[in-house]
Amino acid sequence: MNQCPVHNSTQAPLFPELQDSVTHTGGELSISLLVIDDEPRARQSLCDLLRPMGHRMTQAGSVAEAIKWLQLDNFTLALVDLNLPDGSGQDIMRYIQDHEILTRLIVISGETTFDQATEALRNGACDFLRKPYHPRSLLETVNKELDRARTHHRYQRIQDELKGSETLHRFIVNNSPDMIYMLDDQGRFSFINQRVRSLLGYSEKNLIGQHYSSVVFSDDVEKAQFVFNERRTGDRASKGIELRLQNRHNKEIRFVEARAISVELTAMGVYTAHNSAQDAEFIGTYGVIRDITERKRSEALMHYHQYHDHLTGLPNRALFHDRLKMALAQARRSKGQLAVLYLDIDRFRMINDNLGHLAGDNILQRITQRLKTNLREEDTLARVGGDEFLLLLPNIVKAEDAALIAQKIIASGSVPMLYQEQELRLTFSIGIATYPDHASSKDDLIRYADLAKCHIKQNGRNSYDYYQTRFKHLQPPALELENSLHRALKNNELELYYQPQIDLIEQRVVGLEALIRWNHPEKGLLSPGEFIPLAEQSSLICDLGEWVLERACEDGRNLEECGLTGLKIAINTSMQQLDRLCFQQQVLEAIARHGLSLNRLEIEITENSIMQDMQRAVDVLTALAKKGISIAIDDFGTGYSSLSYLQTLPISTLKIDRSFISNLSEFHSGTPIVTAILNMADALKLNCVAEGVETSEQKNILRQAGCRIIQGYHYCKPQSMVQLMRYLKQAKSGILNHEDQLRSL
Ligand code: C2E
Ligand code: MG
Ligand code: MG
Repeated sequence: MNQCPVHNSTQAPLFPELQDSVTHTGGELSISLLVIDDEPRARQSLCDLLRPMGHRMTQAGSVAEAIKWLQLDNFTLALVDLNLPDGSGQDIMRYIQDHEILTRLIVISGETTFDQATEALRNGACDFLRKPYHPRSLLETVNKELDRARTHHRYQRIQDELKGSETLHRFIVNNSPDMIYMLDDQGRFSFINQRVRSLLGYSEKNLIGQHYSSVVFSDDVEKAQFVFNERRTGDRASKGIELRLQNRHNKEIRFVEARAISVELTAMGVYTAHNSAQDAEFIGTYGVIRDITERKRSEALMHYHQYHDHLTGLPNRALFHDRLKMALAQARRSKGQLAVLYLDIDRFRMINDNLGHLAGDNILQRITQRLKTNLREEDTLARVGGDEFLLLLPNIVKAEDAALIAQKIIASGSVPMLYQEQELRLTFSIGIATYPDHASSKDDLIRYADLAKCHIKQNGRNSYDYYQTRFKHLQPPALELENSLHRALKNNELELYYQPQIDLIEQRVVGLEALIRWNHPEKGLLSPGEFIPLAEQSSLICDLGEWVLERACEDGRNLEECGLTGLKIAINTSMQQLDRLCFQQQVLEAIARHGLSLNRLEIEITENSIMQDMQRAVDVLTALAKKGISIAIDDFGTGYSSLSYLQTLPISTLKIDRSFISNLSEFHSGTPIVTAILNMADALKLNCVAEGVETSEQKNILRQAGCRIIQGYHYCKPQSMVQLMRYLKQAKSGILNHEDQLRSL
């Protein structure tokens, strides 16, 4: 009976093509004999002689009776008398032949004419015994036929098994998610599995006999030779080689990673089987091709995010620095000139304050488009702050060329921009520094362009100027702010806000991120973006960090005293803090002073800052982690592209950057990156927190992708301590007015 190996026989088989692949033809042949003779005594004597062999026996006295039995049972052997009351034994033999019954036949008859014997043989008899027979010759004849039957049965079983295993292997190969191929010694396809249809749009038939280069993307043909001509076997064979192939129809480039078999996937040489390796003859290459297009896309997208501003799509500061470095090297070699322009939109803050951030973002995008129309392809425009841009003009003939561009930009600002029926006119302050006239290092060029811009800002804005040595004494507004930040620390103008982190499975608040605010006496509430980058340029960030640590621990204690227990508090930390020898001690002392347990504190640090001094980061963070303090990587995905550091550091949490989350929607490309990060975190056994979740659509996509903890305006904006207490108490008593009713803490 045929059986499906993968499914219960009462259900439809999952893979019908596999139904016949594993046939159970049973073990040894079970033998049964049919004795046909009209004389009861003759039948009985035959049975008596054969009984010691131990086989099942059935008797029939006529043609009709014999046929009835043949219909009911599968006999191995029939002993047939020719003279029967209702016909001849030949009739039975013909019946057996016509119905393709496998029963073997021995004729036992008193009739011994030559004609009858030949007719019997023609009708399928295997042997002919004349009555009266000698018992020994009967037994010999029967045994010989039974041996043949057994041999045939074994042969049949092997055939069935071979057929089954070939179907099974073909099924496995054809349903592999990877393309499996074999090339002959000339590099032509001699085998390819069905995956080629969906991957490259060819049928197997189309490709057999074709050279491998017909599917390789033209730029990669040279590289492909190394894999597709692989002659090595075992560990030395090619593994993980990346190539691009071409789809037959849309010519879309697909990235593939060709790897070898031997459990890991590879490309390897195939040789004829010989006793010695020297005699073996190379017959081709075997390999597996895995489609990694999606992975490549995610990587490219991640790379793009690391070097671009997500609002305008312009290069960010890091990419600008790279481009400037290259342009400087080129200018040095060719004894050329270049210019760096620092642009600032005058009073942009007023647009944000009066029209809101959405309007601000929209206007920034439109300004970007306008600025680009004034530039050449080789120029680099980067967004480096809220309303600040850097522009690199790499190939200027004379320093005055930069002024022409600055004039064009200022002129473009005077063309009114319509926003919700309001006409906006924008002005720019632009500082210019050139190589080699003003400076020869990239940092100086940027700094001097900034100082020239400050000069314009302090002298009426809406203009441009070149850097002059006298500007060196100018104080960029940053410096002004720095002085007042010092005061703020002393005058208690700083405040910690907290943003809850929600566990989507347990539906409760599990953590709080401490976010600093500055209640500026004149400017109002300032967000960290307006002063942290500045504080980071000096040791002020350490004083500020110390204050945050102390306040967060104190607030943690207060929460516990109010019965709001078990919440982890995350504090943002800068690399400069980690650089201080006393940092570890400061953290441990602050925790102890306020009687918190060590696992209540989480240190957040961005990828970028870790990379400033990896070894130091490893040392300090490992020491803290050993004490039970958890470490989170903040803004994950926007920083360093090599991920190997994740295994070196004692990290417990990855915080997926907001820019990836804001791109999350059913129709947007953001999902693969987030999924890739979640998969990676899962593999490394790290927690993941999604930052900046603003909509329930984003939350649902994240939940489906397996993200457990989220943080964002969708649940709660950062709150002052007073507001937070109220929020947490409501959450605790289950009266939060929210689509996802949070459970108690
Ligand atoms: P971060 O650590 O990545 O903090 C998350 C930022 O995203 C916070 O901005 C938060 O208010 C904002 N955010 C949270 N949910 C949403 C949302 O749904 N939509 C949007 N649009 N934004 C959301 P914030 O408070 O302005 O802080 C900005 C950054 O300043 C922080 O980014 C952190 O890097 C830094 N920072 C804040 N406090 C401190 C501090 O005490 N020390 C240090 N060194 N840096 C801090
Ligand atoms: Mg953070
Ligand atoms: Mg962050």
